Amino acid sequence: MTAVFDGHNDALGKLQSHEGAPADFLSGLPERDIDLPRARAGGLAGGLFAINAPSPHDPSDGRSLWETPYAEPIDHAQATAFTAGAVGRAHALAAASDGAVAVATDAAALDRCRADGTLAMVLHLEGAEAIDPGLSALDAWHAAGVRSIGLVWSRPNAFGHGVPFRFPASPDTGPGLTAAGLALVRRCAQLRMAVDVSHLNAAGFADVARLAAGPVIASHSACHALSASTRNLTDDQLREIGRSDGIVGIVFAPAFVREDGADEADTRLAVLVSHVRHAVAVAGLDHVGLGSDFDGAPMPAAIGDVAGLPRLLDALRDDGFAADEVQRIAWGNWRRVLGSVWGS
Ligand SMILES: [Zn+2]
Repeated sequence: MTAVFDGHNDALGKLQSHEGAPADFLSGLPERDIDLPRARAGGLAGGLFAINAPSPHDPSDGRSLWETPYAEPIDHAQATAFTAGAVGRAHALAAASDGAVAVATDAAALDRCRADGTLAMVLHLEGAEAIDPGLSALDAWHAAGVRSIGLVWSRPNAFGHGVPFRFPASPDTGPGLTAAGLALVRRCAQLRMAVDVSHLNAAGFADVARLAAGPVIASHSACHALSASTRNLTDDQLREIGRSDGIVGIVFAPAFVREDGADEADTRLAVLVSHVRHAVAVAGLDHVGLGSDFDGAPMPAAIGDVAGLPRLLDALRDDGFAADEVQRIAWGNWRRVLGSVWGS
């Protein structure tokens, strides 16, 4: 089975929000998109496991995604408490798994996990609110195993401005990174932590691309040319990702990939394949991977949950991607980019 590294899932955040026990993840959580038995069935060998501390109030209030007001900020103390709980749960999960799950902090660990059939969790903060503007908490999260930082979720914070959910609309929605945001990007480069631009607005993306001096990573986005939401990458941004030897993980959520922006489960795999094709054409084959958003967004019924990953890989092969190209998209490109960022 083709091994997959998935650039984004919200399994840890869901486990924390619902106070789930690690044993539940190991034995099965059928109401969620990911648990260990189905991760194995789908070939999921590793991924960025995101921790996204929720805003104090759900702004959707029954409205559709594109009519949702800009999400309100979450304060540092609340984000810190949530993140500490989720990071602790991740380590407890690995400890309870009898070697089936590991927190991976370098590329050698990714290789080992893939060879051993261990699920590699790379801890990722989706939104940097659990980091103080003085950045002292960054070293604490690094010491706790976090190796990837998404500067913002779709809300403002001390470091920058996430895009509000809008369709059709440009991701150029406001100012770039704050002084603290610029300092955070520089410090992540020193610590060799990945910086993720998904959810960031266009001016913030440009700041990261200018400062990071390394791979630009968009963990879970799609192509604006095919689906014109604020969450997606323009062709200029895709080219910048290619130039930087970075990667875009193509998100699966129907609302972000469909031409009409509809949050419609009846979305064909061919739509996802068309985003992979477009990103490959603009950024290059070495700069495209997967970034599902399992447990974070509704999925196309054609994939369903993590056990459906092989169906997407089959659809890529059926579209003419060679076996070695599918392996690079599924695993190799993420492995190369993270190894380059981490220096391992
Ligand atoms: Zn997200």
